[in-house]
Amino acid sequence: MLHHKAFKYRIYPNQEQIVQLRKTLGCSRFVFNHFLKKWQEEYQAKGRGLSYLACATELPAMKCEWPWLKEVDSIALQSAVRNVADAFQRFFTKQNQYPHFKSRKSPVQSYTTRCTNHNIAIKDNQIQLPKLGWIRLAKSREIEGRILSATVRYTSSGKWFVSVVCEVDMEPLPETDAILGIDVGIKHLAVTSEGLVLDNPRYTPRYQQALAKWQRILARRKKGGSNWRKAKAKVARIHEKIQNSRLDVLHKQTTTWIRENQTICIEVLRIATMMKNHRLAKSIADASWGEMSRQLNYKAKWYGRTIKKAPEYAPTSQTCHVCGSKNVEVKDLSVRVWTCAACQTTHERDRNAALNIIAMAL
Ligand SMILES: [Zn+2]
Repeated sequence: MLHHKAFKYRIYPNQEQIVQLRKTLGCSRFVFNHFLKKWQEEYQAKGRGLSYLACATELPAMKCEWPWLKEVDSIALQSAVRNVADAFQRFFTKQNQYPHFKSRKSPVQSYTTRCTNHNIAIKDNQIQLPKLGWIRLAKSREIEGRILSATVRYTSSGKWFVSVVCEVDMEPLPETDAILGIDVGIKHLAVTSEGLVLDNPRYTPRYQQALAKWQRILARRKKGGSNWRKAKAKVARIHEKIQNSRLDVLHKQTTTWIRENQTICIEVLRIATMMKNHRLAKSIADASWGEMSRQLNYKAKWYGRTIKKAPEYAPTSQTCHVCGSKNVEVKDLSVRVWTCAACQTTHERDRNAALNIIAMAL
């Protein structure tokens, strides 16, 4: 079966290419904001928004009015229009908040371009992108399949990345009987019904210490000064390292889980509800629960596995998985180990939850 698969690489553009990349980011942002404003005005005046097509047909006229738009990849500009339409679509189906204007100051800048007539290609340690020519790339893995699109990102730590989406033919894995339950946590990224504990890289001492140190330095320095900016970049780089490490852990683990199990049971993530609890919010955003579920879902599709979800608000932590009796004291997150009053089984909090998730999802 054909599936979409993304390959992410760091790229090292030269000075000339950096100028062109920045121009493309700026023009994409300009087009996005232009149509976002227009969409809003149209909505206020007529009670209905625009459409992708209505906006896209305006692009040539825009290029006459602002000729510098002609200097960048035209498909990137079309994608910016598409992004406005998608953002409104997601807002109307209640998947997202109301679209915001894009700012030059936002921590990650990106644009997307589509592959037409082989204008995107990877050869040796280089990638070809429209209007940019060949850019040096760190080829961390071989690319597979047919290239569909490429997204270029500039991060707050000053690095460039490209994510290439390909159409890849993938075979489902041989079937197995194994079933796994996963409880997502705050302290740990996850605990499984088999008792595997996946740690959150954020809490590794090396990162903790470095982060605390540079955040202290940042707080001491005069805001806006050049030393302050250096410290700020340093903090951003540490966060980026933690994020990369977390993604790496998640990718390796979700692949292993998908390979070894036919059915994987997870909770419906109550992120919106839990985000209202401010103390929990930061940890949850941090633990990338959404990312884990996203990876499991698409990898399950690739390899012919099933993801089942325990119903929302199921009391997975408080229920004894052996006899089914409930202990409300376990609601308190600090209770890590408890003994069931009815059957005397001693439970490790998260593993018991993972076992309940299997029962409640099936
Ligand atoms: Zn019990």
